[in-house]
Amino acid sequence: MIFFIPFLLAAEVDLDEKIKENDISTYIKEGTRFIPLDDLARLLEARLNFGISEGRAFLFYQNHTISLIAGCRDILVNGKLRKIEPPPQFIEGMFVVPLAPMKEVLGSLEVSPDEEEKSIPSIEEALGPSRQSPSIETAIASSTKSTSQKVVMLDPGHGGRDPGAIGEYGLREKDVNLDIVLRLNNLLMKRKELTVLMTRKDDRHLGATSRVDLGKRVKLANQKKADIFLSIHTNSARYNRWTADGFETYCPRSKATNYGNVDDVDVTNEADLGVIIGDLNEGYVLEESRRLASLIQEELSKRLITPNRGVKERNYYVLKYTEMPSVLAEIGFICNPNIEANLRDPHVRQVIAETLYKAIIRYFQEAETNWNL
Ligand SMILES: [Zn+2]
Repeated sequence: MIFFIPFLLAAEVDLDEKIKENDISTYIKEGTRFIPLDDLARLLEARLNFGISEGRAFLFYQNHTISLIAGCRDILVNGKLRKIEPPPQFIEGMFVVPLAPMKEVLGSLEVSPDEEEKSIPSIEEALGPSRQSPSIETAIASSTKSTSQKVVMLDPGHGGRDPGAIGEYGLREKDVNLDIVLRLNNLLMKRKELTVLMTRKDDRHLGATSRVDLGKRVKLANQKKADIFLSIHTNSARYNRWTADGFETYCPRSKATNYGNVDDVDVTNEADLGVIIGDLNEGYVLEESRRLASLIQEELSKRLITPNRGVKERNYYVLKYTEMPSVLAEIGFICNPNIEANLRDPHVRQVIAETLYKAIIRYFQEAETNWNL
């Protein structure tokens, strides 16, 4: 039984005293004393959230966010990298942190007891059973024999003057989208059967208006004759902003067909933007779009423990006007502060990039027997 002892944490607060008073079990391993993170959170009256992928935790203490990952010495304190030694880890199935280094981190935080605390909505206890996927390194190392070169067009949503959705703590969608796509690009580039292209590689918009911007993304994919088009976004909800949760992938309901030649299109002329599609086997392209979307949802659900919102159909501009199978993945709700904290974490972004990588490889692999995963 653990009792809540209200107190204000000053830098010098004696956690050891509180641990003793509350009869909390700590663990000594190789000379270091560890405390279960949920006990530490209770003592601090901090909110604890286990992340959207395994072995990850977020401590929301007053107005600070501390992000930790089991086995990793790097921790993020309000988005800034710090190191703790030894790293957080699991002992007897519990997520524990080394006591002395954590005290040092906590002691260095600015504590403003007068400030009204931001209440962060509780989400369900989220640490599901460990769902291990084969390591991505193994996947990359496996031999590749395919002779048919495929072109993948990656599209990080928004950019430049268009930030996309913005989280409560200022994280911008355009930056998350780009970082995940750059990570995904790094993984895909190691496959010699793939040519990987991006609609943008840095923080820029592609057109003066969003319609021109989207038109250029589409035109690029069509001109390069991409085999698939994958647009990455993070979601934002109009209502229930702080509790909206989950990931979803969109595929087109229909494709624009027989509008003429892409080379005739002037994308600076908004009226011309729809006139970009040549002959197209619409049924096939729609089917393949759905297949890719399903694989993305399936792979994300293996690594993320946020809700799987499924595959949805919507004629987003970039889905309708691209000639090839196309999907738009919304990888999480940036408007939800818990998810925003997750999305700030490079490890989470890497996990998402790895799942997208696996989905793309499976997409080609399942159509061509000589592809290996
Ligand atoms: Zn977006």
